[in-house]
Amino acid sequence: MQTSPDIQSYDVLIVGMGPAGATAAYELSRAGIAVLGLDKQSHPRYKVCGGGLSVRIDKILDEDFKRVVEHTVYGIQFTYGGEEPFLIQSAAPIAYMVMRDRFDHLLVEKARLAGTEVHEGEQAMGFLQSPDGVEVITDRGRYRTKVLIGADGANSIVAQRLFPGRKLHRMPTLESELGIGQAPLYPGEGKVLIDLGATERGYAWIFPKKERLSIGVAEFRGRPASPKGIFDRFVRDEKGLADMSVPKPCGHPLPLYSNVGFAQQGLVCHRALLVGDAGHLVDPLFGEGIYYAVRSGQIAAASVLGMFHDRRRSLLDYELAVAREICEEFRVASRVARIVYTFPRLCHRLMHRYQEVINLYYEVLRGRETYQTFFRKAKGVVKASFRELLRETLSF
Ligand SMILES: Cc1cc2nc3c(=O)[nH]c(=O)nc-3n(C[C@H](O)[C@H](O)[C@H](O)COP(=O)(O)OP(=O)(O)OC[C@H]3O[C@@H](n4cnc5c(N)ncnc54)[C@H](O)[C@@H]3O)c2cc1C
Repeated sequence: MQTSPDIQSYDVLIVGMGPAGATAAYELSRAGIAVLGLDKQSHPRYKVCGGGLSVRIDKILDEDFKRVVEHTVYGIQFTYGGEEPFLIQSAAPIAYMVMRDRFDHLLVEKARLAGTEVHEGEQAMGFLQSPDGVEVITDRGRYRTKVLIGADGANSIVAQRLFPGRKLHRMPTLESELGIGQAPLYPGEGKVLIDLGATERGYAWIFPKKERLSIGVAEFRGRPASPKGIFDRFVRDEKGLADMSVPKPCGHPLPLYSNVGFAQQGLVCHRALLVGDAGHLVDPLFGEGIYYAVRSGQIAAASVLGMFHDRRRSLLDYELAVAREICEEFRVASRVARIVYTFPRLCHRLMHRYQEVINLYYEVLRGRETYQTFFRKAKGVVKASFRELLRETLSF
């Protein structure tokens, strides 16, 4: 859509073509909207990520993403500082494992096929708001757009420039990829490993893929003195990694959701909105972000289409829908996280004892329970078990 020889105009310009941006682009292009998607990198590109997708992604993505699924997960092996292992297995899948280069590339290609103009290797650098849209300056040119979607991840320049004063916490993480050739498929076919004792207020993981193990640590509360020290200790203490030469990890911030941040800063500013990591839409319990990136991209596209079709509607519909569907869930997840990361050892032992609570959590991953129903039911299970224990003790 050309308006003058040196500046092109689009209905929607998306900065960042990860899962959030590529999904929004796909949905908008399918509806006949003129979309430009920019990414400073070229796909397929490496992204520091565990690549774990909860299976409720089935409800929101077309079946064809299964082409890039490397493993289906049926159970989690929990450890505490490399000790006290137990496995909670399930008959039905709880998660899929993907490598992000292949997964994101698939989503970008779907957007391109649906009609999105994709510019790879082009970096957005500046933005000028005007009454009827935004002008975007990149390292290659300038564009005008009616709506700007910031899908540029944890270090979002859209958030920094157009949402001033936005000071939300991003937690440090480290992850390394160990080639399977050097290691067995650990912790085994259809399993992942989670260790709540590896770090003070977070967890360490091993997520197996076809050709590698993704090994990482993330802090969820407070600031660790030395993330590298924590990573090295986890690798040293984890028996399945004994004698393995794990490559040096890469760091990346994890923009966890925070109740305060969302209430104060929101996701919409005039004609710009934030999706995925740029909007801190990451689950505060275990750091799941891909599902919410895809979902927020879809909600954003629906709100933009709503506004284009009906002038009485605004982009604020997006913020309201995210608050209802995602943030209500994250508020409860934050409460669970506060308990888990304040009393990790106790929680590790309680999970072992009350395995039905973990099975209930698996239903959240399947999208059959929400965090809200999970929390209510889990409290019920624990209370009933305490009552039972008390009765048994008193009857002696
Ligand atoms: C160590 C680690 C492990 C994780 N493990 C999991 C997991 O197992 N499961 C899970 O669900 N989530 C996980 N996450 C979170 C998940 O990676 C993110 O939530 C997800 O990538 C968010 O997608 P997005 O599209 O919002 O952003 P991104 O995937 O970060 O994509 C942003 C895109 O924007 C581009 N970009 C950035 N700046 C510019 C610019 N100025 N101009 C143009 N392009 C730009 C980037 O090149 C990139 O392609 C993990 C995160 C970390 C750090």
